[in-house]
Amino acid sequence: MSKGKRIGLVAHDARKADLQDWVKINESKLAGHQLVATGTTGTLLMKACPSLKIGCLKSGPLGGDQQLGAMIADGKLDILFFFIDPMTNQPHDVDIKALTRMSTVYNIVLAMTRSTADFVINSPLFADETYAPTKTDYESYVHRLVPSDVH
Ligand code: PGA
Repeated sequence: MSKGKRIGLVAHDARKADLQDWVKINESKLAGHQLVATGTTGTLLMKACPSLKIGCLKSGPLGGDQQLGAMIADGKLDILFFFIDPMTNQPHDVDIKALTRMSTVYNIVLAMTRSTADFVINSPLFADETYAPTKTDYESYVHRLVPSDVH
């Protein structure tokens, strides 16, 4: 991971104020990294912290979560701070599941609670450019036999 991390920021509506507060507290630590967010989250964060440059994707339920998932699959995201609302049904539940699944498949850093986010941003690894996350080799999966190959 290079020193300048590629960081995703997403918060559900009930958690947006929480993420805004967390980003304000950690503004200087986030500055200098490449920040990207789902549309509404990013717009609010830039209002709260005008010094931060945040690339805004589509709104999460309109494809923003999937855009982040595609970045992860393409190896273009190192860390995702994803403040979810555990008490409200989300219309894009499947996208949320896909995003957390992609984060797991590609072993990126995924912080889904504010406490985890605190640990991540204060970890010595956050500023470490030599850290290399382990990568699972999916070659055997890619070349697996599927029923149509069998006959
Ligand atoms: P939003 O999307 O930042 O556009 O509100 C967040 C989400 O994925 O729910």
